Amino acid sequence: AHLDRIAAVDERVNAFLHVDAEGALAAAERVDADRAAGRAQGPLAGVPIAVKDVLTTRGVPTTAGSKILEGWQPPYDATIVTRMREAGLVILGKTNMDEFAMGSSTEYSAYGPTHNPWDLGRIPGGSGGGSAAAIAAYEAPLAIGTDTGGSIRQPGAVTGTVGAKPTYGGTSRYGLIAFSSSLDTPGPCARTVEDAALLHAVIAGHDPRDSTSIPAAVPDVVAAARRGATGDLSGVRLGVVKEFSGEGAEPGVSAAVREGIEALVKLGAEVVEVSCPHFEFALPAYYLIAPSECSSNLARFDGVRYGLRAGDDGNRSLEEVMSLTRDQGFGPEVKRRIMIGTYALSSGYYDAYYGQAQKVRTLISRDFAAAFEKVDVLVSPTTPFVAFEFGSRTSDPYQMYLADLYTIPSNLYGGPAISVPVGLSDGLPVGFQIMAPTLADDRMYRVAAALE
Ligand code: GLN
Repeated sequence: AHLDRIAAVDERVNAFLHVDAEGALAAAERVDADRAAGRAQGPLAGVPIAVKDVLTTRGVPTTAGSKILEGWQPPYDATIVTRMREAGLVILGKTNMDEFAMGSSTEYSAYGPTHNPWDLGRIPGGSGGGSAAAIAAYEAPLAIGTDTGGSIRQPGAVTGTVGAKPTYGGTSRYGLIAFSSSLDTPGPCARTVEDAALLHAVIAGHDPRDSTSIPAAVPDVVAAARRGATGDLSGVRLGVVKEFSGEGAEPGVSAAVREGIEALVKLGAEVVEVSCPHFEFALPAYYLIAPSECSSNLARFDGVRYGLRAGDDGNRSLEEVMSLTRDQGFGPEVKRRIMIGTYALSSGYYDAYYGQAQKVRTLISRDFAAAFEKVDVLVSPTTPFVAFEFGSRTSDPYQMYLADLYTIPSNLYGGPAISVPVGLSDGLPVGFQIMAPTLADDRMYRVAAALE
Protein backbone atom coordinates (compact mmCIF):
# COMPACT_ATOMS: atom_id res chain seq x y z
CA ALA A 1 0.00 0.00 0.00
CA HIS A 2 2.82 2.41 0.83
CA LEU A 3 4.66 1.63 -2.42
CA ASP A 4 1.41 2.39 -4.28
CA ARG A 5 1.02 5.63 -2.38
CA ILE A 6 4.60 6.61 -3.26
CA ALA A 7 3.91 5.82 -6.92
CA ALA A 8 0.77 7.97 -6.79
CA VAL A 9 2.09 11.10 -5.06
CA ASP A 10 5.88 11.24 -5.00
CA GLU A 11 6.17 12.81 -8.41
CA ARG A 12 4.65 15.90 -6.81
CA VAL A 13 6.20 15.61 -3.31
CA ASN A 14 9.72 14.39 -4.25
CA ALA A 15 10.28 12.95 -0.78
CA PHE A 16 12.27 9.98 -2.09
CA LEU A 17 15.60 9.93 -3.89
CA HIS A 18 15.46 6.18 -4.26
CA VAL A 19 12.62 3.71 -3.77
CA ASP A 20 13.73 0.14 -3.10
CA ALA A 21 10.50 -1.69 -3.96
CA GLU A 22 12.22 -5.02 -4.45
CA GLY A 23 14.11 -4.84 -1.16
CA ALA A 24 11.00 -3.70 0.70
CA LEU A 25 8.81 -6.52 -0.61
CA ALA A 26 11.51 -9.10 0.17
CA ALA A 27 11.84 -7.73 3.73
CA ALA A 28 8.06 -7.84 4.17
CA GLU A 29 8.00 -11.44 3.01
CA ARG A 30 10.67 -12.37 5.53
CA VAL A 31 8.55 -10.85 8.30
CA ASP A 32 5.54 -12.86 7.08
CA ALA A 33 7.60 -16.05 7.01
CA ASP A 34 8.87 -15.41 10.55
CA ARG A 35 5.34 -14.84 11.74
CA ALA A 36 4.10 -18.01 10.04
CA ALA A 37 6.92 -19.95 11.71
CA GLY A 38 5.93 -18.53 15.09
CA ARG A 39 9.24 -16.72 15.65
CA ALA A 40 9.21 -13.89 18.20
CA GLN A 41 8.76 -10.43 16.66
CA GLY A 42 9.09 -6.90 17.98
CA PRO A 43 6.25 -4.36 17.89
CA LEU A 44 7.46 -2.76 14.64
CA ALA A 45 7.95 -5.96 12.61
CA GLY A 46 6.50 -5.42 9.16
CA VAL A 47 6.13 -1.64 9.53
CA PRO A 48 7.46 0.30 6.52
CA ILE A 49 10.02 3.03 7.07
CA ALA A 50 11.81 5.69 4.99
CA VAL A 51 15.48 6.44 5.69
CA LYS A 52 17.23 9.77 5.18
CA ASP A 53 19.79 9.39 2.40
CA VAL A 54 22.70 10.24 4.68
CA LEU A 55 22.72 6.79 6.30
CA THR A 56 24.47 3.97 4.52
CA THR A 57 22.36 1.11 3.23
CA ARG A 58 24.19 -1.89 1.86
CA GLY A 59 23.89 -2.11 -1.93
CA VAL A 60 21.27 0.65 -2.02
CA PRO A 61 22.34 4.03 -3.49
CA THR A 62 23.26 6.63 -0.86
CA THR A 63 23.95 10.19 -1.99
CA ALA A 64 23.61 12.50 1.06
CA GLY A 65 21.73 14.73 -1.41
CA SER A 66 24.98 15.44 -3.28
CA LYS A 67 26.15 15.00 -6.85
CA ILE A 68 29.54 14.00 -5.50
CA LEU A 69 28.09 10.67 -4.28
CA GLU A 70 25.77 10.02 -7.23
CA GLY A 71 25.64 6.31 -7.98
CA TRP A 72 27.57 5.27 -4.86
CA GLN A 73 26.40 2.00 -3.32
CA PRO A 74 27.71 1.55 0.21
CA PRO A 75 29.20 -1.86 1.04
CA TYR A 76 27.72 -1.81 4.56
CA ASP A 77 24.68 -0.83 6.62
CA ALA A 78 24.73 1.89 9.27
CA THR A 79 24.29 0.43 12.77
CA ILE A 80 20.80 1.87 13.14
CA VAL A 81 19.85 0.43 9.74
CA THR A 82 21.05 -2.99 10.93
CA ARG A 83 18.96 -2.60 14.08
CA MET A 84 15.88 -1.67 12.07
CA ARG A 85 16.30 -4.65 9.78
CA GLU A 86 16.69 -6.95 12.80
CA ALA A 87 13.48 -5.50 14.26
CA GLY A 88 11.64 -6.39 11.04
CA LEU A 89 11.16 -2.81 9.85
CA VAL A 90 10.71 -2.70 6.09
CA ILE A 91 12.89 -0.06 4.40
CA LEU A 92 10.96 1.57 1.56
CA GLY A 93 13.78 3.75 0.28
CA LYS A 94 15.97 6.77 0.85
CA THR A 95 14.67 10.28 1.40
CA ASN A 96 15.63 13.65 0.01
CA MET A 97 17.68 16.14 2.02
CA ASP A 98 19.76 19.26 1.78
CA GLU A 99 23.22 18.35 0.51
CA PHE A 100 25.21 16.75 3.34
CA ALA A 101 22.43 17.84 5.73
CA MET A 102 23.29 21.53 5.40
CA GLY A 103 20.13 23.56 5.14
CA SER A 104 16.62 24.08 6.46
CA SER A 105 14.44 23.67 3.37
CA THR A 106 15.77 20.84 1.08
CA GLU A 107 16.37 23.57 -1.49
CA TYR A 108 20.07 22.69 -1.28
CA SER A 109 19.49 19.10 -2.41
CA ALA A 110 21.30 18.43 -5.69
CA TYR A 111 18.20 16.50 -6.79
CA GLY A 112 15.55 19.22 -6.53
CA PRO A 113 13.57 20.22 -3.45
CA THR A 114 10.94 18.23 -1.61
CA HIS A 115 7.49 19.85 -1.53
CA ASN A 116 5.51 20.30 1.67
CA PRO A 117 2.34 18.17 1.42
CA TRP A 118 0.39 20.94 3.20
CA ASP A 119 1.16 23.36 0.36
CA LEU A 120 3.28 22.18 -2.54
CA GLY A 121 4.64 25.71 -3.08
CA ARG A 122 6.29 25.66 0.32
CA ILE A 123 9.36 24.03 1.83
CA PRO A 124 9.07 20.88 4.01
CA GLY A 125 11.89 22.03 6.29
CA GLY A 126 15.39 20.66 6.23
CA SER A 127 17.72 19.15 6.09
CA GLY A 128 15.48 16.09 6.52
CA GLY A 129 12.53 17.46 4.56
CA GLY A 130 12.14 14.23 2.61
CA SER A 131 11.64 12.11 5.73
CA ALA A 132 9.09 14.52 7.24
CA ALA A 133 7.21 15.00 3.96
CA ALA A 134 7.05 11.23 3.38
CA ILE A 135 5.22 10.90 6.70
CA ALA A 136 2.97 13.92 6.15
CA ALA A 137 2.03 12.64 2.67
CA TYR A 138 1.25 9.15 4.02
CA GLU A 139 4.03 7.63 1.93
CA ALA A 140 5.53 6.09 5.08
CA PRO A 141 4.33 5.80 8.68
CA LEU A 142 7.84 6.19 10.10
CA ALA A 143 11.14 7.66 8.98
CA ILE A 144 14.67 8.25 10.14
CA GLY A 145 16.23 11.68 10.24
CA THR A 146 19.47 13.15 11.53
CA ASP A 147 19.71 16.27 13.63
CA THR A 148 22.86 18.41 13.78
CA GLY A 149 21.19 21.76 14.36
CA GLY A 150 17.50 20.97 14.00
CA SER A 151 17.15 18.80 10.90
CA ILE A 152 14.73 16.33 12.50
CA ARG A 153 12.71 18.80 14.58
CA GLN A 154 12.30 21.73 12.17
CA PRO A 155 10.99 19.54 9.29
CA GLY A 156 8.68 17.89 11.83
CA ALA A 157 7.40 21.30 12.90
CA VAL A 158 6.62 22.61 9.43
CA THR A 159 4.96 19.38 8.21
CA GLY A 160 2.80 18.78 11.30
CA THR A 161 4.67 15.60 12.25
CA VAL A 162 6.69 14.44 15.26
CA GLY A 163 10.48 14.57 15.17
CA ALA A 164 12.79 13.61 18.02
CA LYS A 165 16.50 14.23 18.49
CA PRO A 166 17.76 11.71 21.06
CA THR A 167 20.58 12.49 23.48
CA TYR A 168 23.81 12.92 21.49
CA GLY A 169 25.59 9.56 21.62
CA GLY A 170 22.34 7.76 22.41
CA THR A 171 21.97 6.66 18.79
CA SER A 172 24.94 5.38 16.80
CA ARG A 173 26.63 7.49 14.13
CA TYR A 174 28.32 4.46 12.55
CA GLY A 175 27.32 4.58 8.89
CA LEU A 176 26.02 8.12 9.12
CA ILE A 177 27.86 10.26 6.56
CA ALA A 178 29.44 12.84 8.85
CA PHE A 179 28.60 16.54 8.72
CA SER A 180 29.53 17.80 12.20
CA SER A 181 30.64 14.81 14.24
CA SER A 182 30.24 16.40 17.66
CA LEU A 183 26.60 17.27 16.90
CA ASP A 184 25.18 14.70 14.43
CA THR A 185 22.39 12.63 15.99
CA PRO A 186 20.09 10.17 14.20
CA GLY A 187 16.53 9.94 15.46
CA PRO A 188 12.91 9.06 14.73
CA CYS A 189 10.28 10.87 12.64
CA ALA A 190 6.68 9.74 13.07
CA ARG A 191 3.03 10.73 13.07
CA THR A 192 2.57 10.27 16.84
CA VAL A 193 4.79 10.53 19.90
CA GLU A 194 4.27 6.87 20.77
CA ASP A 195 5.31 5.82 17.26
CA ALA A 196 8.46 7.93 17.60
CA ALA A 197 9.21 6.32 20.98
CA LEU A 198 8.75 2.80 19.55
CA LEU A 199 11.25 3.60 16.79
CA HIS A 200 13.60 5.31 19.25
CA ALA A 201 13.66 2.11 21.31
CA VAL A 202 14.69 0.08 18.24
CA ILE A 203 17.57 2.32 17.12
CA ALA A 204 19.01 3.59 20.43
CA GLY A 205 21.69 2.00 22.57
CA HIS A 206 25.42 1.63 22.83
CA ASP A 207 27.43 0.80 19.71
CA PRO A 208 31.10 -0.12 20.12
CA ARG A 209 31.67 1.01 16.51
CA ASP A 210 30.98 4.65 17.42
CA SER A 211 33.54 6.10 19.85
CA THR A 212 31.08 8.73 21.08
CA SER A 213 28.24 6.26 21.66
CA ILE A 214 27.17 6.31 25.31
CA PRO A 215 27.56 2.99 27.15
CA ALA A 216 24.42 3.51 29.26
CA ALA A 217 21.02 1.86 29.36
CA VAL A 218 18.37 3.47 27.15
CA PRO A 219 15.54 4.92 29.25
CA ASP A 220 12.14 3.31 28.67
CA VAL A 221 10.84 5.90 26.24
CA VAL A 222 7.82 3.82 25.20
CA ALA A 223 6.54 3.51 28.77
CA ALA A 224 7.16 7.24 29.23
CA ALA A 225 5.13 8.12 26.12
CA ARG A 226 2.28 5.89 27.31
CA ARG A 227 2.41 7.44 30.75
CA GLY A 228 2.26 10.94 29.23
CA ALA A 229 -0.71 9.94 27.09
CA THR A 230 -2.76 9.33 30.25
CA GLY A 231 -2.75 13.13 30.59
CA ASP A 232 -1.38 13.58 34.09
CA LEU A 233 1.53 15.99 34.39
CA SER A 234 1.17 16.89 38.03
CA GLY A 235 4.47 17.97 39.52
CA VAL A 236 6.17 18.49 36.15
CA ARG A 237 7.96 21.86 35.93
CA LEU A 238 8.14 23.45 32.46
CA GLY A 239 10.87 26.01 31.94
CA VAL A 240 10.17 28.91 29.60
CA VAL A 241 13.42 30.50 28.45
CA LYS A 242 13.32 34.24 29.07
CA GLU A 243 15.80 34.96 26.27
CA PHE A 244 13.56 33.18 23.73
CA SER A 245 10.47 35.23 24.39
CA GLY A 246 9.85 37.95 21.89
CA GLU A 247 12.84 36.92 19.85
CA GLY A 248 11.86 36.56 16.26
CA ALA A 249 8.92 34.13 16.36
CA GLU A 250 5.94 34.91 14.15
CA PRO A 251 2.89 35.98 16.17
CA GLY A 252 0.87 32.93 15.03
CA VAL A 253 3.69 30.62 16.15
CA SER A 254 3.97 32.28 19.57
CA ALA A 255 0.19 32.10 20.03
CA ALA A 256 0.02 28.38 19.22
CA VAL A 257 2.91 27.64 21.58
CA ARG A 258 1.26 29.67 24.36
CA GLU A 259 -1.89 27.58 23.91
CA GLY A 260 0.24 24.44 24.12
CA ILE A 261 1.74 25.59 27.40
CA GLU A 262 -1.75 26.35 28.74
CA ALA A 263 -2.88 22.85 27.74
CA LEU A 264 0.03 21.34 29.67
CA VAL A 265 -0.76 23.50 32.70
CA LYS A 266 -4.34 22.14 32.65
CA LEU A 267 -2.80 18.67 32.96
CA GLY A 268 -1.03 19.68 36.15
CA ALA A 269 2.29 21.10 34.91
CA GLU A 270 3.76 24.21 36.44
CA VAL A 271 5.48 26.99 34.45
CA VAL A 272 8.74 28.56 35.63
CA GLU A 273 10.63 31.28 33.79
CA VAL A 274 14.33 30.51 33.51
CA SER A 275 17.19 32.55 32.18
CA CYS A 276 19.70 31.09 29.73
CA PRO A 277 21.83 34.14 28.98
CA HIS A 278 24.16 32.45 26.51
CA PHE A 279 21.48 31.02 24.20
CA GLU A 280 21.71 34.15 22.07
CA PHE A 281 25.23 33.10 21.08
CA ALA A 282 24.18 29.59 20.07
CA LEU A 283 23.59 30.40 16.40
CA PRO A 284 26.98 32.11 15.82
CA ALA A 285 28.81 29.39 17.80
CA TYR A 286 27.06 26.68 15.77
CA TYR A 287 27.97 28.38 12.50
CA LEU A 288 31.65 28.14 13.44
CA ILE A 289 31.64 24.66 14.97
CA ALA A 290 29.49 22.93 12.33
CA PRO A 291 31.35 24.37 9.28
CA SER A 292 34.72 23.68 10.95
CA GLU A 293 33.88 20.03 11.48
CA CYS A 294 32.30 19.83 8.02
CA SER A 295 35.44 21.19 6.34
CA SER A 296 37.42 18.40 7.96
CA ASN A 297 34.85 15.63 7.39
CA LEU A 298 34.24 16.51 3.75
CA ALA A 299 37.95 16.39 2.89
CA ARG A 300 37.42 12.70 2.14
CA PHE A 301 35.45 13.54 -1.02
CA ASP A 302 38.50 13.89 -3.22
CA GLY A 303 37.53 12.10 -6.44
CA VAL A 304 39.62 9.10 -5.44
CA ARG A 305 37.68 7.21 -2.79
CA TYR A 306 34.01 7.51 -3.74
CA GLY A 307 31.59 8.70 -6.39
CA LEU A 308 32.34 11.50 -8.82
CA ARG A 309 35.79 11.95 -10.42
CA ALA A 310 35.98 14.90 -12.77
CA GLY A 311 38.52 15.92 -15.42
CA ASP A 312 40.69 12.80 -15.18
CA ASP A 313 41.76 12.83 -18.86
CA GLY A 314 45.34 11.72 -18.28
CA ASN A 315 46.72 15.25 -18.70
CA ARG A 316 45.78 16.72 -15.35
CA SER A 317 47.58 16.52 -12.05
CA LEU A 318 46.04 14.84 -9.03
CA GLU A 319 45.45 18.23 -7.47
CA GLU A 320 43.59 19.48 -10.56
CA VAL A 321 41.38 16.38 -10.60
CA MET A 322 40.54 16.80 -6.91
CA SER A 323 39.80 20.45 -7.36
CA LEU A 324 37.60 19.91 -10.44
CA THR A 325 35.76 17.05 -8.71
CA ARG A 326 35.00 19.16 -5.66
CA ASP A 327 34.06 22.15 -7.80
CA GLN A 328 31.56 20.12 -9.83
CA GLY A 329 30.42 17.78 -7.08
CA PHE A 330 29.58 20.21 -4.25
CA GLY A 331 26.78 22.76 -4.30
CA PRO A 332 27.07 26.40 -3.18
CA GLU A 333 26.03 25.95 0.48
CA VAL A 334 28.49 23.10 1.03
CA LYS A 335 31.28 25.15 -0.54
CA ARG A 336 30.38 28.14 1.62
CA ARG A 337 30.67 26.03 4.76
CA ILE A 338 33.92 24.37 3.72
CA MET A 339 35.42 27.80 3.14
CA ILE A 340 34.21 29.20 6.47
CA GLY A 341 35.35 26.08 8.31
CA THR A 342 38.76 25.94 6.65
CA TYR A 343 39.30 29.59 7.53
CA ALA A 344 38.15 29.14 11.14
CA LEU A 345 40.47 26.18 11.64
CA SER A 346 43.54 27.67 10.01
CA SER A 347 46.56 28.36 12.19
CA GLY A 348 46.45 31.78 13.72
CA TYR A 349 42.64 31.82 13.61
CA TYR A 350 41.86 28.57 15.39
CA ASP A 351 41.77 30.02 18.91
CA ALA A 352 39.92 33.15 17.86
CA TYR A 353 37.11 31.28 16.08
CA TYR A 354 36.83 27.55 16.72
CA GLY A 355 38.32 27.74 20.22
CA GLN A 356 36.11 30.66 21.14
CA ALA A 357 33.00 28.91 19.81
CA GLN A 358 33.81 25.84 21.90
CA LYS A 359 33.98 28.05 24.99
CA VAL A 360 30.57 29.50 24.16
CA ARG A 361 29.35 25.94 23.80
CA THR A 362 30.45 25.20 27.35
CA LEU A 363 28.61 28.29 28.62
CA ILE A 364 25.44 27.16 26.84
CA SER A 365 25.73 23.71 28.44
CA ARG A 366 26.07 25.41 31.83
CA ASP A 367 22.89 27.40 31.11
CA PHE A 368 21.08 24.11 30.51
CA ALA A 369 22.52 22.55 33.66
CA ALA A 370 21.46 25.55 35.77
CA ALA A 371 17.97 25.57 34.21
CA PHE A 372 17.49 21.85 34.87
CA GLU A 373 18.12 22.44 38.56
CA LYS A 374 14.88 24.43 38.58
CA VAL A 375 12.75 22.70 35.93
CA ASP A 376 12.23 19.25 34.42
CA VAL A 377 12.08 20.29 30.77
CA LEU A 378 12.41 23.46 28.71
CA VAL A 379 9.69 24.36 26.21
CA SER A 380 9.72 26.71 23.21
CA PRO A 381 8.59 26.99 19.62
CA THR A 382 10.54 24.55 17.43
CA THR A 383 11.14 27.11 14.74
CA PRO A 384 10.33 30.85 14.54
CA PHE A 385 8.24 30.61 11.38
CA VAL A 386 5.89 28.23 9.57
CA ALA A 387 6.75 26.61 6.21
CA PHE A 388 7.94 29.36 3.88
CA GLU A 389 7.67 29.63 0.10
CA PHE A 390 10.40 28.28 -2.13
CA GLY A 391 13.08 30.83 -2.88
CA SER A 392 12.14 33.20 -0.09
CA ARG A 393 15.24 32.51 2.06
CA THR A 394 17.88 31.31 -0.38
CA SER A 395 19.33 34.68 -1.37
CA ASP A 396 20.57 35.45 2.18
CA PRO A 397 22.13 32.48 4.02
CA TYR A 398 21.49 34.14 7.38
CA GLN A 399 17.71 34.10 6.77
CA MET A 400 17.94 30.34 6.27
CA TYR A 401 20.11 29.89 9.38
CA LEU A 402 17.45 31.61 11.51
CA ALA A 403 15.16 28.58 11.07
CA ASP A 404 17.26 26.86 13.73
CA LEU A 405 17.32 29.63 16.31
CA TYR A 406 15.48 27.51 18.89
CA THR A 407 16.78 24.06 17.98
CA ILE A 408 20.54 24.66 17.99
CA PRO A 409 21.08 25.18 21.76
CA SER A 410 20.16 21.56 22.58
CA ASN A 411 22.56 20.31 19.89
CA LEU A 412 25.41 22.27 21.42
CA TYR A 413 24.50 20.89 24.84
CA GLY A 414 23.77 17.32 23.70
CA GLY A 415 20.46 16.74 25.44
CA PRO A 416 17.34 15.29 23.79
CA ALA A 417 14.66 17.49 22.22
CA ILE A 418 11.44 16.77 20.36
CA SER A 419 9.01 18.69 18.16
CA VAL A 420 5.29 17.95 18.47
CA PRO A 421 2.50 19.55 16.38
CA VAL A 422 0.63 22.23 18.34
CA GLY A 423 -2.03 23.67 16.06
CA LEU A 424 -1.89 25.95 13.06
CA SER A 425 -0.85 29.45 12.12
CA ASP A 426 -2.29 30.76 8.83
CA GLY A 427 -3.44 27.20 8.11
CA LEU A 428 0.09 25.81 8.43
CA PRO A 429 1.44 23.56 11.19
CA VAL A 430 3.35 24.88 14.20
CA GLY A 431 5.82 22.80 16.22
CA PHE A 432 6.22 22.80 20.01
CA GLN A 433 9.70 21.94 21.26
CA ILE A 434 10.44 20.08 24.49
CA MET A 435 14.09 19.87 25.62
CA ALA A 436 15.27 17.57 28.41
CA PRO A 437 18.52 16.86 30.26
CA THR A 438 21.08 14.51 28.76
CA LEU A 439 19.91 10.89 28.97
CA ALA A 440 16.43 11.94 30.18
CA ASP A 441 14.88 11.16 26.80
CA ASP A 442 11.97 9.48 28.61
CA ARG A 443 11.01 12.76 30.29
CA MET A 444 10.73 14.53 26.97
CA TYR A 445 8.50 11.77 25.54
CA ARG A 446 6.23 11.91 28.55
CA VAL A 447 5.53 15.64 28.20
CA ALA A 448 5.27 15.37 24.39
CA ALA A 449 2.66 12.60 24.59
CA ALA A 450 0.63 14.63 27.07
CA LEU A 451 0.49 17.54 24.63
CA GLU A 452 -0.65 15.40 21.71
N1 GLN B 1 19.79 23.84 9.32
C1 GLN B 1 20.98 23.55 10.06
C2 GLN B 1 22.17 23.63 9.14
O1 GLN B 1 21.99 24.00 8.05
C3 GLN B 1 20.86 22.20 10.71
C4 GLN B 1 21.13 21.08 9.80
C5 GLN B 1 21.05 19.75 10.47
O2 GLN B 1 20.55 19.60 11.58
N2 GLN B 1 21.60 18.76 9.78
O3 GLN B 1 23.27 23.34 9.51
